[in-house]
Amino acid sequence: MQNITATLINLYHVCHRELWLHAHEIRMEHTSDMVAEGKLIGDTAYDRRADKYTQVELDGIKIDFFDPKNKVVHETKRGRAIEAAHRAQVQYYLYRLRQHGVTDASGLIEYPDLRKTEAVPPLTEADVREIEHWEAEVRRIVGQAECPPAIRIKICNSCSYYDLCFVGEEA
Ligand code: SF4
Repeated sequence: MQNITATLINLYHVCHRELWLHAHEIRMEHTSDMVAEGKLIGDTAYDRRADKYTQVELDGIKIDFFDPKNKVVHETKRGRAIEAAHRAQVQYYLYRLRQHGVTDASGLIEYPDLRKTEAVPPLTEADVREIEHWEAEVRRIVGQAECPPAIRIKICNSCSYYDLCFVGEEA
């Protein structure tokens, strides 16, 4: 089993089929304008912050922007349609930092297009237990021999796997 990453935790909160496809290296991100736009926002929205923040790598996890002075993980996102997944991703970063002795870090999710931010408080013991449950679920789903079925949800229209899931069907 591959390492659990924050991306897998994020996808667990979006769509189990997408999680399975991504984990099995079936990638179609190059077909998605949304993914390209999201990357552009991440690369340019706060182009000066690289001076202030540092990149952290922890056993296969990469946190692009960590403020070591204030112990804050910064994550930039495009829109709030899958806000729960964004929050879970940042909580997973906090979980992995905690495993490395940084127990009181918090997070800030930034939505530059919307001029909004969402604070993610330091993890509680209940949060840690929930994250361990997410990890077990990710392992279970990724370990399934068959890809989970497509589900029709709002974000399918902007998902890079749309054609794979719904080719031949009417939108
Ligand atoms: S198109 Fe919909 S069902 Fe298919 S992987 Fe994306 S979110 Fe999941």
